[in-house]
Amino acid sequence: MSINYIYEKLAYIKGLSDGLDIKEDTKEAKLLLSIVDMLEDFVDIFADIQENQEELEEYIESIDEDIADIEDEMLRFEDEDDFNTVEIVCPNCGETIYVDEGLMCDKDIEIVCPNCKNVIMNDEELEGIEE
Ligand SMILES: [Zn+2]
Repeated sequence: MSINYIYEKLAYIKGLSDGLDIKEDTKEAKLLLSIVDMLEDFVDIFADIQENQEELEEYIESIDEDIADIEDEMLRFEDEDDFNTVEIVCPNCGETIYVDEGLMCDKDIEIVCPNCKNVIMNDEELEGIEE
């Protein structure tokens, strides 16, 4: 039900009550007019609530989009992580080790096989080993 429909109904009811040419000093007139008056208040409140709800929906949608953006960003970050990880095989025990590409470029850093504790990071050993 749209708010416009309710406004139309309200206008119709007000038209009816105006058409009665009510004399406001009778008890029945007071009752009828105050009911119409209250209806008007209800419709206004309803319109406000509907407006607020629409704003909230828009707000939630924008938060939803922000969350989707953050998720995309995190996924891209994880992808980059994968891309920068180099897979090497321990020449001592054959264990596959994942090493950050940045560490590979630093010749001062030794990489220790977590399986056999063999130090495998030096230039001679890394030669010929594919990513
Ligand atoms: Zn090893």
